[in-house]
Amino acid sequence: MNIGMYEDMNSDIYALLCPRCGYNYMHHEKIMVYARSEDEKETTVTTIVGRDVVTKKVPSSEANNPSVRRHGLTITFTCEGCIDKFKDEFELHLAQHKGNTYIGWGEFKTEAESETEDDYELF
Ligand SMILES: [Zn+2]
Repeated sequence: MNIGMYEDMNSDIYALLCPRCGYNYMHHEKIMVYARSEDEKETTVTTIVGRDVVTKKVPSSEANNPSVRRHGLTITFTCEGCIDKFKDEFELHLAQHKGNTYIGWGEFKTEAESETEDDYELF
């Protein structure tokens, strides 16, 4: 899945595009970092909203980590282009799995939904 980016004029910088409407005026609302060694029972979840940072340990089965077994990260966005749905947030996910880092929008499987390690499907 292509996450959607366009190259800004006269630069090497790429802007992320909204997965719903394709607009590039998006706002970071919340960042969540999931620190977990392979199959660890607890995940340390750090949530950043504006200047506020909260860290807590939660059971890995309840963490909503985009990675089934290791580290993950989510960035929650809103989009100015989705003006009628502006309050609807959506997430960009990064997940570590078997030495790869996966990136994509939206849905992810929970550990309970993941049938086997080889059937891993992040997005
Ligand atoms: Zn949009």
